[in-house]
Amino acid sequence: MKRSEVGIIGAGISGLLACKYLKAKGLNPIVFEAEDNIGGLWTKTLESTKLQTPKQLFQFSDFPWPSHVTTHFPTHQQVLDYITAYANHFDLLKYIRFNSKVQGIHYEASAPLQEWHLYNSFNSQGKWSLSVNNNSNNSTQVYTVDFVILCIGRFSDVPNIPEFPLNRGPDVFGGKVIHSMDYALLNAESATQLVKGKQVTIVGFQKSALDLAMECSSLNGIKYPCRVIYKTKHWNIPDFLPWGIPLAYFYLNRFSELLVHKPNEGFLLCLIATLLTPLRWAFSKFVESHIKRKLRLKKFGMVPEYSFHQDISSCGTSTVPEKFYDKVEEGSIILKKAQRFWFCKEGILVDGEEASPLNTDLVILATGFRGDKKLKDIFVSPTFQNLIYGSSNEIVPLYRDCIHPHIPQLAVIGYSESFTNLFTSEMKSRWVAELLDGTFQLPNIKEMEKDVKEWDEYMKKYSRQNYRKSCIAVLHIWYNDQLCKDMGWNPKRKNGFFAELFEPYGPLDYSS
Ligand SMILES: Cc1cc2nc3c(=O)[nH]c(=O)nc-3n(C[C@H](O)[C@H](O)[C@H](O)COP(=O)(O)OP(=O)(O)OC[C@H]3O[C@@H](n4cnc5c(N)ncnc54)[C@H](O)[C@@H]3O)c2cc1C
Repeated sequence: MKRSEVGIIGAGISGLLACKYLKAKGLNPIVFEAEDNIGGLWTKTLESTKLQTPKQLFQFSDFPWPSHVTTHFPTHQQVLDYITAYANHFDLLKYIRFNSKVQGIHYEASAPLQEWHLYNSFNSQGKWSLSVNNNSNNSTQVYTVDFVILCIGRFSDVPNIPEFPLNRGPDVFGGKVIHSMDYALLNAESATQLVKGKQVTIVGFQKSALDLAMECSSLNGIKYPCRVIYKTKHWNIPDFLPWGIPLAYFYLNRFSELLVHKPNEGFLLCLIATLLTPLRWAFSKFVESHIKRKLRLKKFGMVPEYSFHQDISSCGTSTVPEKFYDKVEEGSIILKKAQRFWFCKEGILVDGEEASPLNTDLVILATGFRGDKKLKDIFVSPTFQNLIYGSSNEIVPLYRDCIHPHIPQLAVIGYSESFTNLFTSEMKSRWVAELLDGTFQLPNIKEMEKDVKEWDEYMKKYSRQNYRKSCIAVLHIWYNDQLCKDMGWNPKRKNGFFAELFEPYGPLDYSS
Protein backbone atom coordinates (compact mmCIF):
# COMPACT_ATOMS: atom_id res chain seq x y z
CA MET A 1 0.00 0.00 0.00
CA LYS A 2 1.44 3.33 -1.01
CA ARG A 3 1.43 6.03 1.62
CA SER A 4 2.19 9.59 0.78
CA GLU A 5 2.50 11.46 4.05
CA VAL A 6 5.40 10.21 6.08
CA GLY A 7 6.88 11.85 9.15
CA ILE A 8 10.48 10.99 9.97
CA ILE A 9 11.64 11.88 13.46
CA GLY A 10 15.35 12.67 13.69
CA ALA A 11 17.94 13.91 11.20
CA GLY A 12 20.90 11.83 12.30
CA ILE A 13 22.31 9.26 9.91
CA SER A 14 19.18 7.09 10.11
CA GLY A 15 16.73 9.92 9.47
CA LEU A 16 18.76 11.25 6.54
CA LEU A 17 18.92 7.79 4.99
CA ALA A 18 15.19 7.23 5.44
CA CYS A 19 14.52 10.60 3.86
CA LYS A 20 16.81 9.90 0.91
CA TYR A 21 15.24 6.54 0.05
CA LEU A 22 11.67 7.77 0.50
CA LYS A 23 12.40 10.72 -1.72
CA ALA A 24 13.76 8.33 -4.36
CA LYS A 25 10.37 6.59 -4.33
CA GLY A 26 8.59 9.85 -5.04
CA LEU A 27 7.37 10.29 -1.49
CA ASN A 28 7.52 13.65 0.22
CA PRO A 29 8.61 13.04 3.80
CA ILE A 30 8.75 15.66 6.55
CA VAL A 31 11.75 15.24 8.82
CA PHE A 32 11.42 16.68 12.31
CA GLU A 33 14.72 17.43 13.99
CA ALA A 34 14.92 18.72 17.56
CA GLU A 35 18.26 20.47 17.01
CA ASP A 36 19.25 23.14 14.52
CA ASN A 37 21.64 20.80 12.70
CA ILE A 38 21.96 17.37 11.12
CA GLY A 39 24.22 14.47 12.10
CA GLY A 40 22.69 13.53 15.46
CA LEU A 41 25.19 12.25 17.97
CA TRP A 42 28.15 13.14 15.74
CA THR A 43 27.45 16.76 16.66
CA LYS A 44 27.80 15.90 20.35
CA THR A 45 30.78 13.62 20.79
CA LEU A 46 33.87 14.12 22.91
CA GLU A 47 36.60 16.20 21.29
CA SER A 48 38.82 13.12 20.90
CA THR A 49 36.19 10.70 19.54
CA LYS A 50 37.00 9.06 16.25
CA LEU A 51 35.07 6.59 14.17
CA GLN A 52 35.78 3.18 15.62
CA THR A 53 34.61 1.24 12.59
CA PRO A 54 36.98 1.28 9.60
CA LYS A 55 35.58 3.86 7.23
CA GLN A 56 35.09 1.45 4.30
CA LEU A 57 32.44 -0.27 6.43
CA PHE A 58 30.94 2.99 7.64
CA GLN A 59 30.01 4.56 4.34
CA PHE A 60 26.93 5.26 2.30
CA SER A 61 26.65 2.69 -0.47
CA ASP A 62 26.33 5.33 -3.21
CA PHE A 63 28.45 8.11 -1.74
CA PRO A 64 32.07 7.19 -0.98
CA TRP A 65 34.27 9.01 1.49
CA PRO A 66 36.13 11.92 -0.15
CA SER A 67 39.65 11.04 -1.28
CA HIS A 68 41.25 13.62 1.03
CA VAL A 69 40.14 11.57 4.06
CA THR A 70 42.96 9.06 4.00
CA THR A 71 42.84 7.71 7.55
CA HIS A 72 40.91 4.50 8.29
CA PHE A 73 39.33 6.01 11.39
CA PRO A 74 38.21 9.59 10.66
CA THR A 75 37.69 12.13 13.44
CA HIS A 76 34.18 13.00 14.57
CA GLN A 77 34.44 16.26 12.60
CA GLN A 78 35.32 14.34 9.43
CA VAL A 79 32.36 12.03 10.04
CA LEU A 80 30.10 15.04 10.44
CA ASP A 81 31.47 16.66 7.27
CA TYR A 82 30.85 13.42 5.40
CA ILE A 83 27.25 13.23 6.63
CA THR A 84 26.70 16.90 5.73
CA ALA A 85 28.13 16.36 2.24
CA TYR A 86 25.74 13.41 1.80
CA ALA A 87 22.72 15.49 2.83
CA ASN A 88 23.74 18.30 0.47
CA HIS A 89 24.51 15.96 -2.41
CA PHE A 90 21.05 14.38 -2.24
CA ASP A 91 19.39 17.70 -1.47
CA LEU A 92 17.84 16.49 1.77
CA LEU A 93 17.92 19.69 3.84
CA LYS A 94 14.75 21.06 2.30
CA TYR A 95 12.76 18.20 3.84
CA ILE A 96 13.93 18.94 7.37
CA ARG A 97 12.12 21.09 9.94
CA PHE A 98 14.87 22.11 12.34
CA ASN A 99 14.32 23.05 15.98
CA SER A 100 11.25 20.83 15.88
CA LYS A 101 11.13 18.45 18.79
CA VAL A 102 8.42 15.84 18.59
CA GLN A 103 6.94 15.75 22.09
CA GLY A 104 4.72 12.77 21.50
CA ILE A 105 3.03 10.72 18.81
CA HIS A 106 -0.54 9.56 19.02
CA TYR A 107 -2.37 7.08 16.80
CA GLU A 108 -5.91 7.88 15.81
CA ALA A 109 -7.37 4.57 14.74
CA SER A 110 -10.07 4.34 12.11
CA ALA A 111 -11.30 1.17 13.80
CA PRO A 112 -11.46 0.16 17.45
CA LEU A 113 -8.17 -0.93 18.99
CA GLN A 114 -9.18 -4.58 19.32
CA GLU A 115 -9.95 -4.76 15.63
CA TRP A 116 -6.63 -3.57 14.22
CA HIS A 117 -4.88 -5.56 16.86
CA LEU A 118 -6.08 -8.72 15.15
CA TYR A 119 -5.17 -7.89 11.59
CA ASN A 120 -2.03 -7.03 9.79
CA SER A 121 -1.11 -3.77 11.42
CA PHE A 122 0.32 -2.24 8.28
CA ASN A 123 -3.05 -2.35 6.57
CA SER A 124 -4.73 -0.18 9.18
CA GLN A 125 -6.20 3.08 8.01
CA GLY A 126 -5.62 5.41 10.92
CA LYS A 127 -3.40 8.45 11.16
CA TRP A 128 -0.58 9.49 13.47
CA SER A 129 -0.68 12.92 15.01
CA LEU A 130 2.65 14.38 16.03
CA SER A 131 2.82 17.11 18.58
CA VAL A 132 5.83 19.20 17.61
CA ASN A 133 7.43 21.90 19.71
CA ASN A 134 9.32 24.60 17.86
CA ASN A 135 12.33 25.37 20.06
CA SER A 136 12.97 28.76 18.49
CA ASN A 137 9.59 30.32 19.41
CA ASN A 138 8.31 27.69 21.88
CA SER A 139 5.11 27.12 19.93
CA THR A 140 3.47 23.74 19.49
CA GLN A 141 1.96 22.50 16.29
CA VAL A 142 0.21 19.23 15.53
CA TYR A 143 1.00 17.41 12.28
CA THR A 144 -0.98 14.49 10.88
CA VAL A 145 0.76 11.82 8.84
CA ASP A 146 -0.03 8.35 7.51
CA PHE A 147 3.21 6.75 8.53
CA VAL A 148 5.92 7.49 11.09
CA ILE A 149 9.58 6.48 10.96
CA LEU A 150 11.33 6.81 14.31
CA CYS A 151 15.01 7.65 13.81
CA ILE A 152 15.57 9.14 17.24
CA GLY A 153 18.82 7.31 18.01
CA ARG A 154 19.60 5.16 21.00
CA PHE A 155 22.86 6.67 22.26
CA SER A 156 21.69 10.06 23.44
CA ASP A 157 19.19 11.99 25.57
CA VAL A 158 18.17 9.30 28.09
CA PRO A 159 21.21 8.33 30.16
CA ASN A 160 21.50 5.00 31.89
CA ILE A 161 22.09 5.97 35.51
CA PRO A 162 22.89 3.18 37.99
CA GLU A 163 20.54 2.78 40.96
CA PHE A 164 21.89 3.36 44.47
CA PRO A 165 20.59 2.44 47.90
CA LEU A 166 19.15 5.22 50.07
CA ASN A 167 21.80 7.71 51.26
CA ARG A 168 24.43 6.20 49.00
CA GLY A 169 23.68 8.03 45.78
CA PRO A 170 25.22 11.17 44.21
CA ASP A 171 23.26 13.41 46.63
CA VAL A 172 25.57 12.50 49.56
CA PHE A 173 28.73 13.15 47.54
CA GLY A 174 30.61 16.41 48.12
CA GLY A 175 31.94 16.58 44.55
CA LYS A 176 30.33 16.74 41.14
CA VAL A 177 28.66 13.93 39.19
CA ILE A 178 27.86 14.19 35.49
CA HIS A 179 27.03 11.80 32.68
CA SER A 180 29.35 11.45 29.69
CA MET A 181 26.69 13.07 27.48
CA ASP A 182 26.94 16.29 29.54
CA TYR A 183 30.71 16.24 29.27
CA ALA A 184 30.44 15.72 25.50
CA LEU A 185 28.43 18.95 25.20
CA LEU A 186 31.28 21.05 26.66
CA ASN A 187 33.66 22.86 24.38
CA ALA A 188 37.36 22.06 24.70
CA GLU A 189 38.06 24.99 27.04
CA SER A 190 35.20 24.20 29.45
CA ALA A 191 36.08 20.49 29.44
CA THR A 192 39.69 21.33 30.34
CA GLN A 193 38.55 23.65 33.11
CA LEU A 194 36.30 20.96 34.55
CA VAL A 195 38.93 18.23 34.62
CA LYS A 196 42.33 19.87 35.02
CA GLY A 197 43.93 19.40 38.42
CA LYS A 198 41.02 17.28 39.69
CA GLN A 199 40.77 13.73 40.91
CA VAL A 200 38.49 12.23 38.31
CA THR A 201 36.69 8.90 38.41
CA ILE A 202 35.10 7.51 35.29
CA VAL A 203 32.54 4.74 35.53
CA GLY A 204 32.32 2.37 32.54
CA PHE A 205 34.61 0.63 30.12
CA GLN A 206 33.27 1.18 26.65
CA LYS A 207 33.89 3.73 23.94
CA SER A 208 33.03 6.93 25.83
CA ALA A 209 34.77 5.75 29.02
CA LEU A 210 37.98 4.93 27.15
CA ASP A 211 38.00 8.27 25.29
CA LEU A 212 37.24 10.15 28.51
CA ALA A 213 40.04 8.41 30.38
CA MET A 214 42.48 9.37 27.63
CA GLU A 215 41.36 13.01 27.72
CA CYS A 216 41.63 13.19 31.54
CA SER A 217 44.99 11.47 31.70
CA SER A 218 46.41 13.77 29.01
CA LEU A 219 45.35 16.78 31.06
CA ASN A 220 46.32 15.54 34.52
CA GLY A 221 49.15 13.04 33.96
CA ILE A 222 50.32 10.96 36.90
CA LYS A 223 49.88 13.81 39.39
CA TYR A 224 46.11 13.32 39.38
CA PRO A 225 45.59 9.89 37.83
CA CYS A 226 42.25 9.20 36.25
CA ARG A 227 40.51 6.26 37.87
CA VAL A 228 38.29 4.04 35.74
CA ILE A 229 35.79 1.87 37.59
CA TYR A 230 34.44 -0.95 35.50
CA LYS A 231 32.16 -3.92 36.09
CA THR A 232 33.00 -6.04 33.08
CA LYS A 233 36.25 -6.47 31.19
CA HIS A 234 35.77 -6.25 27.44
CA TRP A 235 37.67 -7.51 24.44
CA ASN A 236 38.26 -3.95 23.30
CA ILE A 237 40.28 -4.10 20.13
CA PRO A 238 43.53 -2.35 19.22
CA ASP A 239 42.99 -2.81 15.46
CA PHE A 240 40.98 -4.76 12.93
CA LEU A 241 43.92 -6.96 11.90
CA PRO A 242 44.34 -9.93 14.25
CA TRP A 243 47.82 -11.33 13.49
CA GLY A 244 47.72 -9.38 10.21
CA ILE A 245 44.46 -10.86 8.88
CA PRO A 246 41.42 -8.58 8.50
CA LEU A 247 38.89 -9.27 11.25
CA ALA A 248 36.14 -9.24 8.63
CA TYR A 249 37.38 -12.65 7.40
CA PHE A 250 36.47 -14.09 10.80
CA TYR A 251 33.23 -12.25 11.47
CA LEU A 252 31.84 -10.58 8.35
CA ASN A 253 31.65 -13.14 5.59
CA ARG A 254 29.26 -15.97 4.81
CA PHE A 255 31.69 -18.60 6.02
CA SER A 256 31.87 -17.05 9.49
CA GLU A 257 28.08 -16.99 9.64
CA LEU A 258 28.01 -20.72 8.96
CA LEU A 259 29.61 -21.17 12.37
CA VAL A 260 26.71 -19.58 14.18
CA HIS A 261 23.18 -20.87 14.81
CA LYS A 262 20.78 -18.54 13.06
CA PRO A 263 17.14 -17.62 13.46
CA ASN A 264 14.95 -19.78 11.19
CA GLU A 265 18.01 -21.72 9.99
CA GLY A 266 16.60 -25.14 9.13
CA PHE A 267 18.15 -28.57 9.66
CA LEU A 268 21.19 -28.37 7.38
CA LEU A 269 22.47 -24.99 8.60
CA CYS A 270 21.84 -26.08 12.17
CA LEU A 271 23.91 -29.20 11.61
CA ILE A 272 26.74 -27.23 9.97
CA ALA A 273 26.81 -24.70 12.82
CA THR A 274 26.93 -27.52 15.36
CA LEU A 275 29.72 -29.35 13.54
CA LEU A 276 31.72 -26.15 13.12
CA THR A 277 31.48 -25.09 16.77
CA PRO A 278 35.17 -25.94 17.41
CA LEU A 279 36.14 -23.65 14.53
CA ARG A 280 34.08 -20.83 16.00
CA TRP A 281 35.95 -21.35 19.25
CA ALA A 282 39.29 -21.38 17.38
CA PHE A 283 38.51 -18.11 15.55
CA SER A 284 37.65 -16.51 18.84
CA LYS A 285 40.85 -17.75 20.52
CA PHE A 286 42.91 -16.56 17.55
CA VAL A 287 41.59 -13.01 17.88
CA GLU A 288 41.86 -13.12 21.68
CA SER A 289 45.53 -14.12 21.48
CA HIS A 290 46.26 -11.12 19.25
CA ILE A 291 44.47 -8.67 21.54
CA LYS A 292 46.09 -10.14 24.65
CA ARG A 293 49.55 -9.82 23.19
CA LYS A 294 49.16 -6.42 21.60
CA LEU A 295 47.52 -4.75 24.60
CA ARG A 296 49.44 -6.77 27.23
CA LEU A 297 46.14 -7.61 28.90
CA LYS A 298 47.60 -10.28 31.19
CA LYS A 299 50.08 -7.84 32.68
CA PHE A 300 47.29 -5.43 33.54
CA GLY A 301 44.91 -8.15 34.73
CA MET A 302 42.47 -7.21 31.98
CA VAL A 303 41.78 -10.53 30.22
CA PRO A 304 37.99 -10.92 30.05
CA GLU A 305 36.43 -14.04 31.57
CA TYR A 306 34.37 -14.79 28.48
CA SER A 307 35.10 -15.20 24.79
CA PHE A 308 35.70 -12.61 22.11
CA HIS A 309 32.86 -14.24 20.20
CA GLN A 310 30.41 -13.47 22.97
CA ASP A 311 31.63 -9.89 23.23
CA ILE A 312 31.41 -9.19 19.54
CA SER A 313 28.03 -10.92 19.30
CA SER A 314 26.68 -8.44 21.82
CA CYS A 315 28.42 -5.41 20.27
CA GLY A 316 30.41 -5.14 23.49
CA THR A 317 33.79 -4.44 21.93
CA SER A 318 35.09 -0.92 21.39
CA THR A 319 38.26 0.27 19.73
CA VAL A 320 40.96 1.06 22.27
CA PRO A 321 42.46 4.51 21.80
CA GLU A 322 46.12 4.40 20.82
CA LYS A 323 48.50 4.26 23.81
CA PHE A 324 45.67 3.60 26.29
CA TYR A 325 47.60 0.85 28.08
CA ASP A 326 50.80 2.97 28.00
CA LYS A 327 48.87 5.42 30.16
CA VAL A 328 47.82 2.56 32.43
CA GLU A 329 51.45 1.51 32.68
CA GLU A 330 52.72 5.00 33.51
CA GLY A 331 49.98 5.35 36.14
CA SER A 332 47.98 8.22 34.69
CA ILE A 333 45.02 5.84 34.24
CA ILE A 334 44.13 3.45 37.08
CA LEU A 335 41.75 0.59 36.29
CA LYS A 336 39.59 -0.73 39.11
CA LYS A 337 37.09 -3.55 38.88
CA ALA A 338 33.98 -3.27 41.03
CA GLN A 339 30.68 -5.09 40.78
CA ARG A 340 28.94 -2.26 42.59
CA PHE A 341 29.82 1.19 43.83
CA TRP A 342 28.23 3.85 46.01
CA PHE A 343 28.87 7.43 46.95
CA CYS A 344 30.03 8.90 50.24
CA LYS A 345 30.97 12.51 51.03
CA GLU A 346 34.63 12.12 49.98
CA GLY A 347 34.11 10.04 46.87
CA ILE A 348 33.30 6.51 45.93
CA LEU A 349 33.04 3.26 47.84
CA VAL A 350 33.40 -0.02 46.00
CA ASP A 351 32.27 -3.52 46.81
CA GLY A 352 34.45 -5.16 49.47
CA GLU A 353 36.46 -2.01 50.23
CA GLU A 354 33.84 0.00 52.00
CA ALA A 355 36.16 1.16 54.76
CA SER A 356 38.41 3.07 52.37
CA PRO A 357 36.69 5.62 50.13
CA LEU A 358 38.31 6.48 46.82
CA ASN A 359 38.73 10.23 47.09
CA THR A 360 37.30 12.00 44.11
CA ASP A 361 36.38 15.51 42.96
CA LEU A 362 34.50 14.60 39.82
CA VAL A 363 32.66 11.45 38.75
CA ILE A 364 31.77 10.98 35.10
CA LEU A 365 29.24 8.24 34.43
CA ALA A 366 30.03 6.68 31.07
CA THR A 367 27.29 4.18 31.72
CA GLY A 368 25.52 4.38 28.40
CA PHE A 369 21.96 5.19 27.43
CA ARG A 370 18.45 3.79 27.70
CA GLY A 371 17.49 3.58 24.04
CA ASP A 372 14.50 1.38 24.89
CA LYS A 373 13.10 3.97 27.29
CA LYS A 374 13.63 6.73 24.76
CA LEU A 375 11.63 4.73 22.23
CA LYS A 376 8.87 4.13 24.74
CA ASP A 377 8.60 7.75 25.84
CA ILE A 378 7.80 9.10 22.40
CA PHE A 379 4.39 7.37 22.43
CA VAL A 380 1.52 9.14 24.15
CA SER A 381 -0.57 6.02 24.62
CA PRO A 382 0.46 3.69 27.47
CA THR A 383 -0.68 0.77 25.27
CA PHE A 384 1.90 1.58 22.62
CA GLN A 385 4.48 2.45 25.25
CA ASN A 386 4.15 -1.02 26.70
CA LEU A 387 4.05 -2.69 23.30
CA ILE A 388 7.25 -1.09 22.03
CA TYR A 389 9.14 -1.60 25.27
CA GLY A 390 8.06 -5.23 25.45
CA SER A 391 9.34 -7.24 28.36
CA SER A 392 12.76 -6.64 29.91
CA ASN A 393 13.25 -10.40 29.58
CA GLU A 394 13.05 -10.19 25.80
CA ILE A 395 14.47 -8.14 22.97
CA VAL A 396 12.61 -5.01 21.88
CA PRO A 397 10.05 -6.76 19.68
CA LEU A 398 10.71 -5.43 16.19
CA TYR A 399 10.18 -7.52 13.08
CA ARG A 400 13.22 -7.16 10.79
CA ASP A 401 14.42 -4.90 13.61
CA CYS A 402 12.05 -2.28 12.23
CA ILE A 403 8.35 -2.98 12.62
CA HIS A 404 6.42 -3.71 15.78
CA PRO A 405 3.85 -6.36 14.82
CA HIS A 406 1.08 -4.58 16.76
CA ILE A 407 1.87 -0.94 16.12
CA PRO A 408 0.36 0.20 12.86
CA GLN A 409 1.96 2.41 10.23
CA LEU A 410 5.24 2.88 12.05
CA ALA A 411 8.85 1.81 11.58
CA VAL A 412 11.96 2.21 13.73
CA ILE A 413 15.37 2.71 12.14
CA GLY A 414 18.58 2.82 14.15
CA TYR A 415 17.65 0.68 17.13
CA SER A 416 19.64 -2.50 16.62
CA GLU A 417 23.43 -2.40 16.72
CA SER A 418 26.12 -3.83 14.45
CA PHE A 419 29.76 -3.32 13.46
CA THR A 420 28.60 -0.43 11.38
CA ASN A 421 25.34 1.24 12.21
CA LEU A 422 25.35 3.38 9.10
CA PHE A 423 25.29 0.26 6.91
CA THR A 424 22.49 -1.26 9.00
CA SER A 425 20.40 1.92 8.88
CA GLU A 426 20.88 2.18 5.13
CA MET A 427 19.65 -1.37 4.52
CA LYS A 428 16.63 -0.77 6.74
CA SER A 429 15.82 2.54 5.07
CA ARG A 430 15.78 0.86 1.68
CA TRP A 431 13.58 -1.91 3.03
CA VAL A 432 11.09 0.56 4.55
CA ALA A 433 11.04 2.60 1.33
CA GLU A 434 10.20 -0.55 -0.67
CA LEU A 435 7.56 -1.50 1.85
CA LEU A 436 5.94 1.92 1.58
CA ASP A 437 6.17 1.75 -2.18
CA GLY A 438 4.19 -1.48 -2.15
CA THR A 439 6.99 -3.75 -3.43
CA PHE A 440 6.10 -6.29 -0.77
CA GLN A 441 3.63 -6.81 2.05
CA LEU A 442 4.33 -7.58 5.66
CA PRO A 443 3.42 -11.07 6.79
CA ASN A 444 0.60 -11.47 9.28
CA ILE A 445 1.10 -10.66 12.95
CA LYS A 446 1.64 -14.26 14.02
CA GLU A 447 4.43 -14.77 11.50
CA MET A 448 6.10 -11.52 12.52
CA GLU A 449 5.91 -12.52 16.16
CA LYS A 450 7.37 -15.91 15.40
CA ASP A 451 10.28 -14.28 13.60
CA VAL A 452 10.88 -11.86 16.49
CA LYS A 453 10.93 -14.83 18.85
CA GLU A 454 13.54 -16.61 16.73
CA TRP A 455 15.79 -13.52 16.88
CA ASP A 456 15.16 -13.26 20.60
CA GLU A 457 16.46 -16.79 21.04
CA TYR A 458 19.48 -16.05 18.88
CA MET A 459 20.32 -12.91 20.89
CA LYS A 460 20.01 -14.76 24.18
CA LYS A 461 22.19 -17.60 22.96
CA TYR A 462 25.14 -15.48 21.87
CA SER A 463 24.78 -12.07 23.58
CA ARG A 464 23.73 -13.59 26.91
CA GLN A 465 22.65 -10.88 29.38
CA ASN A 466 23.11 -8.18 26.72
CA TYR A 467 20.30 -9.47 24.48
CA ARG A 468 18.34 -6.18 24.79
CA LYS A 469 21.06 -4.51 22.73
CA SER A 470 19.69 -6.32 19.66
CA CYS A 471 23.15 -6.74 18.19
CA ILE A 472 23.18 -8.24 14.71
CA ALA A 473 26.93 -7.78 14.15
CA VAL A 474 27.96 -11.37 13.44
CA LEU A 475 24.81 -12.16 11.44
CA HIS A 476 24.65 -9.04 9.35
CA ILE A 477 24.67 -10.88 6.02
CA TRP A 478 21.96 -13.29 7.17
CA TYR A 479 19.92 -10.30 8.30
CA ASN A 480 20.48 -8.50 4.98
CA ASP A 481 19.48 -11.68 3.15
CA GLN A 482 16.03 -11.49 4.73
CA LEU A 483 15.65 -7.86 3.67
CA CYS A 484 16.86 -8.64 0.15
CA LYS A 485 14.42 -11.51 -0.24
CA ASP A 486 11.54 -9.30 0.93
CA MET A 487 12.51 -6.63 -1.58
CA GLY A 488 12.93 -9.16 -4.39
CA TRP A 489 16.70 -8.60 -4.65
CA ASN A 490 19.25 -11.32 -5.12
CA PRO A 491 20.84 -11.70 -1.65
CA LYS A 492 24.06 -13.08 -3.18
CA ARG A 493 26.08 -10.04 -4.12
CA LYS A 494 29.50 -11.50 -5.00
CA ASN A 495 30.92 -13.01 -8.15
CA GLY A 496 31.60 -16.70 -7.83
CA PHE A 497 31.30 -19.40 -5.20
CA PHE A 498 34.52 -18.71 -3.29
CA ALA A 499 34.05 -14.94 -3.26
CA GLU A 500 30.50 -15.48 -2.02
CA LEU A 501 31.68 -17.72 0.77
CA PHE A 502 34.85 -16.01 1.94
CA GLU A 503 34.89 -12.37 0.90
CA PRO A 504 33.74 -9.94 3.58
CA TYR A 505 30.50 -8.11 2.93
CA GLY A 506 30.09 -4.34 3.24
CA PRO A 507 27.88 -1.45 2.16
CA LEU A 508 29.26 -1.32 -1.38
CA ASP A 509 27.97 -4.85 -2.08
CA TYR A 510 24.47 -3.38 -2.02
CA SER A 511 25.16 -0.22 -4.02
CA SER A 512 22.75 -1.18 -6.78
C1 LIG B 1 30.56 7.91 21.11
C2 LIG B 1 29.93 7.09 20.02
C3 LIG B 1 30.71 6.60 18.99
C4 LIG B 1 30.13 5.83 17.99
N1 LIG B 1 30.92 5.32 17.02
C5 LIG B 1 30.38 4.51 16.09
C6 LIG B 1 31.20 3.89 15.09
O1 LIG B 1 32.41 4.08 15.06
N2 LIG B 1 30.61 3.07 14.19
C7 LIG B 1 29.27 2.83 14.21
O2 LIG B 1 28.79 2.08 13.38
N3 LIG B 1 28.48 3.41 15.13
C8 LIG B 1 28.99 4.23 16.06
N4 LIG B 1 28.18 4.78 16.99
C9 LIG B 1 26.76 4.49 16.93
C10 LIG B 1 25.92 5.64 16.32
O3 LIG B 1 24.76 5.51 17.03
C11 LIG B 1 25.65 5.52 14.83
O4 LIG B 1 26.86 5.59 14.14
C12 LIG B 1 24.75 6.60 14.22
O5 LIG B 1 25.36 7.87 14.24
C13 LIG B 1 23.39 6.68 14.84
O6 LIG B 1 22.59 7.52 14.03
P1 LIG B 1 21.06 7.71 14.29
O7 LIG B 1 20.56 8.64 13.26
O8 LIG B 1 20.40 6.38 14.38
O9 LIG B 1 20.93 8.36 15.74
P2 LIG B 1 21.43 9.78 16.28
O10 LIG B 1 22.72 10.15 15.68
O11 LIG B 1 21.34 9.72 17.76
O12 LIG B 1 20.34 10.80 15.72
C14 LIG B 1 19.06 10.92 16.25
C15 LIG B 1 18.51 12.29 15.88
O13 LIG B 1 17.15 12.35 16.29
C16 LIG B 1 16.90 13.60 16.90
N5 LIG B 1 15.78 13.42 17.81
C17 LIG B 1 15.73 12.59 18.88
N6 LIG B 1 14.52 12.68 19.47
C18 LIG B 1 13.81 13.58 18.76
C19 LIG B 1 12.51 14.11 18.89
N7 LIG B 1 11.69 13.70 19.86
N8 LIG B 1 12.09 15.03 18.00
C20 LIG B 1 12.91 15.44 17.00
N9 LIG B 1 14.16 14.98 16.84
C21 LIG B 1 14.60 14.06 17.71
C22 LIG B 1 18.20 13.93 17.60
O14 LIG B 1 18.31 15.32 17.85
C23 LIG B 1 19.23 13.42 16.59
O15 LIG B 1 19.57 14.40 15.65
C24 LIG B 1 28.74 5.55 18.01
C25 LIG B 1 27.96 6.04 19.06
C26 LIG B 1 28.55 6.80 20.06
C27 LIG B 1 27.68 7.28 21.19
